[in-house]
Amino acid sequence: MMDHRSIEEKYERYHVDGEAYIRQAQTAPCFICQIVARNPEYPAHIVYEDDKAIAFLDKYPFLYGWTLVAPREHREQVTGDFTVEEYLDLQRVLYRVAEAVRREVGAERTYLLSFGSNQGHSHVHWHVAPLPPGVPYREQQQAVFKKGTLRVPEEDKRCLAIRLHDRIEQQHGT
Ligand SMILES: [Zn+2]
Repeated sequence: MMDHRSIEEKYERYHVDGEAYIRQAQTAPCFICQIVARNPEYPAHIVYEDDKAIAFLDKYPFLYGWTLVAPREHREQVTGDFTVEEYLDLQRVLYRVAEAVRREVGAERTYLLSFGSNQGHSHVHWHVAPLPPGVPYREQQQAVFKKGTLRVPEEDKRCLAIRLHDRIEQQHGT
């Protein structure tokens, strides 16, 4: 578990090239479908997978442990493209992943958000965003998006993904 200060000391932050990111989002194939298909051009640190859902570390984390949960099938409307049962099945996975992330990184608060756009990154995905302890009030909530992306080394991400996977597998009763 790391608090806000130790995360900021351990990892530097950078700003993603906005125009390149937008171009990629609007022209490249769906990154979630590519991860599901194990396209080697879209490597990901997968923490959970079943026949309906997949979860993997966000490539551009604003907070340490930021994880995405998505249906394996390409669906675009966060509620409208699901039956209520399908939606709740995905929420069950979201719960399990969020609890694993919360416990692993010692989050003080967990943000769950569904973003995306019909014009780019349209595949439904939920963000599990764990706020570490010690973040000043003014730097919480929307402010976490303004600080830049944490540069977490690949080896660090690989180990974190394994620990999260183990925690999810060890959960019972969910
Ligand atoms: Zn897709």
